Amino acid sequence: MDRGSKPAVLVTGGAGYIGAHTAKALHEQGYLPVVYDNLSSGFRQAVRWGPLVQGDIRDAAALGEAMAAHKVQAVIHFAGLIEVGRSTVKPDLFWEVNVAGTTSLLQVMREHKVERLVFSSSAAVYGQGARSAQQSIAEDAEKAPSSPYGDTKLAAEWMIAAQCRAYGLAAVALRYFNAAGADPSGLIGEAHDPETHLIPLAIAAALGEGKPLTVFGQDFQTPDGTCLRDYIHVSDLARAHVAALGIELRAGAFEAVNVGTGEGRSVMQVVDAVAKAAGCQVPHSVGARRAGDPPSLVADPSLARDLLGWTPRHSSLQEIVADALRWETRPAYGKGVRASSGRGSSPFTSSAD
Ligand code: UDP
Repeated sequence: MDRGSKPAVLVTGGAGYIGAHTAKALHEQGYLPVVYDNLSSGFRQAVRWGPLVQGDIRDAAALGEAMAAHKVQAVIHFAGLIEVGRSTVKPDLFWEVNVAGTTSLLQVMREHKVERLVFSSSAAVYGQGARSAQQSIAEDAEKAPSSPYGDTKLAAEWMIAAQCRAYGLAAVALRYFNAAGADPSGLIGEAHDPETHLIPLAIAAALGEGKPLTVFGQDFQTPDGTCLRDYIHVSDLARAHVAALGIELRAGAFEAVNVGTGEGRSVMQVVDAVAKAAGCQVPHSVGARRAGDPPSLVADPSLARDLLGWTPRHSSLQEIVADALRWETRPAYGKGVRASSGRGSSPFTSSAD
């Protein structure tokens, strides 16, 4: 890719959590991130490093206009639905947005001769299957998604791979493990509504701003009985996207790459890290298992190192939790804001605009 002229990269879903951090990383590496987002769950204030085009991923005409207007050379595709629990009650919606939305994007890319794609995939494609909780996961591991969300990510990967072979697209699917933390600047961070992720909920519980945390199950075949996950700092994850754009790929190539640290952390280890960083206890109780939760998801990150030249730099649990805590306690994000914020309202500070 010609780096001399600030190549434009369309970032679908770039107003969301990982998308905004990736837009910042693109900007820092000399690209122009053009964010395409319908703002259904993203935030206008998180778009700071390039233009925003407001549109839906299923709107082929608007996508085409954005690609032409900004002379887009590559696409990073985040736009999609992510809530595992919701996918079990609205699977049709997840297939429509995540799979049909990706189909529409690929067709428009072909029409506009955009031949490079990085796709936001997930460790949810693996599920647990027959893997033991002790085994880390390489890319060729069994695929046994435990939710319709995971099904749609796997289906989208298959479709992208087939279109690479058929039409000469070159694509990398990044299978994220557990994205967490926030940019140390405090300008962007995690702001889901409703929030379902462990670290922000544990911080809210510690600060007395949320309900006490429920630990979902303590009877798994893991060292302390709680689920093991591979937490990756969102800034490290963002860098992996830029690395994936930059590697040599022949036309027709499709690569699926894990983005994780290779280290499993239990729910109770996260609770302890939050308590230490916040300087107070995390009120919690142990509840039932959550439907669709595999006991263990830990990456074998060798391919990311070998193919992308990528290794994590900021993904110790201490650094992740410290940055998440800084984001959650930033000025003008006072107690009660999350609780009172409805969809469409913004937790971003106006002073940061
Ligand atoms: N978890 C928990 N209580 C919560 C939220 C999450 O015990 O209120 C656990 C969950 O069962 C999983 C881990 O924390 O083992 C990470 O969950 P999260 O929703 O953050 O990410 P996921 O692994 O589902 O992508």
